[in-house]
Amino acid sequence: MGLVGCHVSVSGGIEKAPQRAVDFGCEVMQVFTANQRQWTPKPITDEQATLYLKNLEKCGIQRVVAHNSYLTNLGGFEEDKLEKSLKQFEDELIRCERLKIPYLVFHPGSHLGKGEDFCLRQIAKNIDRVLENLGHIHTILLLENTAGQGTNVGYDFEHLRRIIDYSGNSEKFGVCFDTCHGFQAGYDIRTREAYEETWRKFDEILGLDLLKVFHFNDAKFDAGRNKDRHHNLGEGYIGLEPFQWIVSDERFENLPMILETPDGDEKWEEELKILKQSRL
Ligand SMILES: [Zn+2]
Ligand SMILES: [Zn+2]
Repeated sequence: MGLVGCHVSVSGGIEKAPQRAVDFGCEVMQVFTANQRQWTPKPITDEQATLYLKNLEKCGIQRVVAHNSYLTNLGGFEEDKLEKSLKQFEDELIRCERLKIPYLVFHPGSHLGKGEDFCLRQIAKNIDRVLENLGHIHTILLLENTAGQGTNVGYDFEHLRRIIDYSGNSEKFGVCFDTCHGFQAGYDIRTREAYEETWRKFDEILGLDLLKVFHFNDAKFDAGRNKDRHHNLGEGYIGLEPFQWIVSDERFENLPMILETPDGDEKWEEELKILKQSRL
């Protein structure tokens, strides 16, 4: 059975997130460790970090996933922006390490006209630079599959494979599969046959053991449109059933399944209840 949760707000401080997660009914949670729209967010104090770890244990949240800032493009080439991105990514990993967060999910990057393979190589090289600076860290880097909008790479499982292969630190990587993004990029899961075919491809190209986290989002647009627009579970083009298959699929036992659906505050409690009831 999968472990279910949602992307919880850290407003007022990250130490407030565990209680918020439990109030929704989460078993696992995803957070931004800092304001995701600022290059230099307010640092977390020692007091906050200690309180966060204490609250996490008290609330019984079983696993935490961090989502990286939206500003960062590890595949860019404009020097100024790239330096900022690398600094952000490094700071993010330092925060994850400090907060003992095992997984950092990030969107691979955008090629901005330079071409996909160039971008995939850039991403691997830039991540290697950051990891070299940091030395040993525990946090695993989870490449998130994308919907393929704009010049984003990462919509094809082959892209994720190439980043991992180009990197000198391939053992530091895993994958986060976003259901909406996958559906938009041609990985259908609506019928039993399509569902199995998607996991067969994943296994063939990446290996199912690399799959560490799911993002559970229904889609506002029909399949293959490359549009990153999430919908509430069961209200979009994917429908509820495939999510029920995933939470009960023994291949995905104990993996965090995180809701990033749009009407969070009103819907998460109900969506989590449905997912828990669906587990066989
Ligand atoms: Zn996602
Ligand atoms: Zn998305």
